[in-house]
Amino acid sequence: METASQYGKMGISEKVYSFGEKICSELKERFEKIDQTAEYNQLRVIDAMHKNNVGEACLSGTTGYGYNDLGRDTLERVWADLFGCEDALVRPQITCGTHALALALFSNLRPGDELLSAAGKPYDTLEEVIGIRPSQGSLAEYGITYAQADLTADGEFDFEAIRSKINERTKLVTIQRSKGYQTRKTLSVTQIGEAIKFIKSIRSDILVMVDNCYGEFVERIEPSHLGADMTVGSLIKNPGGGLAPIGGYIVGKKECVENAAHRLTSPGLGKEVGASLGILPQFYQGLFLAPIVTASALKGAIFAANIYERLGFSCVPNATEDRHDIIQAITFGKPEGVIAFCKGVQAASPVDSFATPEPWPMPGYDSNVIMAAGNFVSGSSIELSADGPIKPPYAVYFQGGLTWAHAKYGILNTLQFLINDGVVTLN
Ligand SMILES: *Cc1c(COP(=O)(O)O)cnc(C)c1O
Repeated sequence: METASQYGKMGISEKVYSFGEKICSELKERFEKIDQTAEYNQLRVIDAMHKNNVGEACLSGTTGYGYNDLGRDTLERVWADLFGCEDALVRPQITCGTHALALALFSNLRPGDELLSAAGKPYDTLEEVIGIRPSQGSLAEYGITYAQADLTADGEFDFEAIRSKINERTKLVTIQRSKGYQTRKTLSVTQIGEAIKFIKSIRSDILVMVDNCYGEFVERIEPSHLGADMTVGSLIKNPGGGLAPIGGYIVGKKECVENAAHRLTSPGLGKEVGASLGILPQFYQGLFLAPIVTASALKGAIFAANIYERLGFSCVPNATEDRHDIIQAITFGKPEGVIAFCKGVQAASPVDSFATPEPWPMPGYDSNVIMAAGNFVSGSSIELSADGPIKPPYAVYFQGGLTWAHAKYGILNTLQFLINDGVVTLN
């Protein structure tokens, strides 16, 4: 009663609240399973911290060159253990996910090599890294060519296509785990493991890199546990736990990670430099919280799919299928749906709740885009956020939620906005 009336004070009608409660009560078993995965991953994080003797001294950083940065070096050993790898590069000097991926590619490819994407078209920002869209400083400018094996119509690896695209110049195969902003399915870690095995059976010296963005801690294992030479991602998504204010990571084979370090800093310097300044407490604590934060975001995504599928909208993933990342796509079929949804997310945010998102012609997009986020960390998408291009099929992409309670309120608020704007009626 108290909770219902607090929701009421915050604009959520009794009808919306009780509809949400009904959906929640049907999700108990699924949420239980998510909590069990989070518990397991939480233990793995703590175990890696114990093994590497994380101590108070690790929390203070260095300045200047950053030689002998105990906290930074220990944190990288924690990550390596957690991901079952030889080595890790986890740095605030890696500015974002795209930078981490570009770093992994540029440092492990040489002129004349070919890069193969085994999961179809990669994430938008990688098109410019690779040179699919001509761009200053792309791999293409360095004489590194690109080939692509598309997924099958049902979103599975096309093993014969992969085989046919591998040639004597193929040096590195990239696999994107998450669907990103496409409507294909997200690949499971098991599926990725099978692809890695297949690729290595063709030629064992081909390197496999996995773009792990949005996938961390959703399952009990990561692609690195199934043989990925490099697993790469952003710290302002899942593994930063909402606390990391910047950063990216590359975990994997020692040689690959060393290559990346020597490109991030300089030949001859590698991992030895790169002051952590004051950032380590957030990196450690963020990683510590990440399994639970990821679970909150996952519950939010499942809650949203169940709400909107019930109301007749198509959801990817759908209301019942297994999850391999935290992104939820909902197709509204008209611009008003996308706009009302984003307004609801914005109004439920802890920061900038008073702002109203509007569609605008974002650089790099071929239509107007609306984005909603009222974040503690700018652009963080482990925090509750949503965006959608204003073009058919008028789908919104929604992700994040540092706590399940916030994700729940945010989603109820989207429904309230859709009702208030006359896009949806609740019987
Ligand atoms: C977010 C994302 C990226 C790029 O990350 P940024 O931090 O936005 O540069 C790359 N690949 C996938 C699948 C992503 O979701």
